[in-house]
Amino acid sequence: MIDSHCHLTDPRLGEQLLDVLARAAAAGVGRMITVGTSLEDDRRCVELCRQLPQVRCAIGIHPNYVAESKLEDVEQIELLQLDGSVVALGETGLDYHYGQETKLRQREFFIRQLELAKKVNRPVVIHCREAVDDTLSILNDFTSVAALFHCFTGTIEEARRIVDAGYYLGFGGAVTFKKSEALRDVAREAPADRFVMETDAPYLTPEPMRKQKINEPAMVMHTAAVVAAARGVDVDEIDRLSTANVQRFFGWG
Ligand SMILES: [Zn+2]
Repeated sequence: MIDSHCHLTDPRLGEQLLDVLARAAAAGVGRMITVGTSLEDDRRCVELCRQLPQVRCAIGIHPNYVAESKLEDVEQIELLQLDGSVVALGETGLDYHYGQETKLRQREFFIRQLELAKKVNRPVVIHCREAVDDTLSILNDFTSVAALFHCFTGTIEEARRIVDAGYYLGFGGAVTFKKSEALRDVAREAPADRFVMETDAPYLTPEPMRKQKINEPAMVMHTAAVVAAARGVDVDEIDRLSTANVQRFFGWG
């Protein structure tokens, strides 16, 4: 299994990284993609990947970090994209839940990063919260750019629009929450070639670990078990599909 989205540079994981990697390997999670959120974090991601062949990274500016970022940072990200460990641009996108007051700036950074993705021919990891309409309408101007809506938590109608537009869905810990019946319907209905498994660690710890621990890549197996149950298949099948989809989308593996 590949954890397609985690934040290994977050101190909560970084401080115990060797243990985190060992627990992941023991759980069958041999590889992972760590995702940057700001220029400084992006640099740490690339540095980390140089030491760990089982880790690749996506680098970009997260919508929740646009206030303290500069548009020129995107030029630095263009240089970093040349590193062999970088497999995607992101995470970027729109967050209208936490970012009402930075909406315009988020759009500016999103568009700038999509222009870069188009230029360097990279897939994009999208963070989208309460902003599906605007995200899809902006992506519509970049039809050559492949996109993955990470940690999807929207409605089944939104999922259909995303898949119909040719994009991928990422399923994380939210799928396992008791109240997430509708999200499990999305997981059941998602086309086999359009979804990937992820943790978003250290955030969004899946059930049954939610109360006890910060999230980490090993726990993607709990989420995969819930998606497997929703689809009426075994976990190995989810592993096989997600791994193939990660390899196709990110061109890694
Ligand atoms: Zn993330």
